[in-house]
Amino acid sequence: MNAIAISLNGSILNRAVLVLNSNYAPLHVCTTRRAICLYYLDKAEILESYEEAAHSPSTTLSLPSVVKLNKIVHYNSMSVILNRRNIVQRDHHTCQYCGKSSGPVTVDHIIPKERGGLDSWENLTTACPSCNLIKGNRTPGEAGMQVKRQPVRPNRIHYFQQFVRHQQIGWRPYLFMEPLQ
Ligand SMILES: [Zn+2]
Repeated sequence: MNAIAISLNGSILNRAVLVLNSNYAPLHVCTTRRAICLYYLDKAEILESYEEAAHSPSTTLSLPSVVKLNKIVHYNSMSVILNRRNIVQRDHHTCQYCGKSSGPVTVDHIIPKERGGLDSWENLTTACPSCNLIKGNRTPGEAGMQVKRQPVRPNRIHYFQQFVRHQQIGWRPYLFMEPLQ
């Protein structure tokens, strides 16, 4: 591994990178920091890059945007990991009770755990702290609240597509999306 000292501001190194399996199937999304490590560890090749570059005294490396692993990883191809970040991402960082989309959010059990509610895609939703506080340990019906969108288990490709902004134009062919005009 080549030692590389990269001095860049954190936001660039935290940009999203699409990681493809060695058969080109989208696998997950990581940070540019992690992708550069994979590249220097000889675990991945860079397929697409952002316009910005990372500089060290001896090297210049275009910031990776899409990388492909050199070895196949076996995984359940349809599952997205159930965690707080992915629930908030699925719900577009929007409280599913009042529709507020700015400020901090929490993850709410629609049917409270104490009442037998599960840790599942269908029972977890994004809520702002005040809605979460008002709802407390009640069901939405008991609290007189309504979930705007029934939460569902996200489709993997749809999940990746949500990360695509203008800068991620290079991801589109790998996610079966139309090229941008
Ligand atoms: Zn709310």
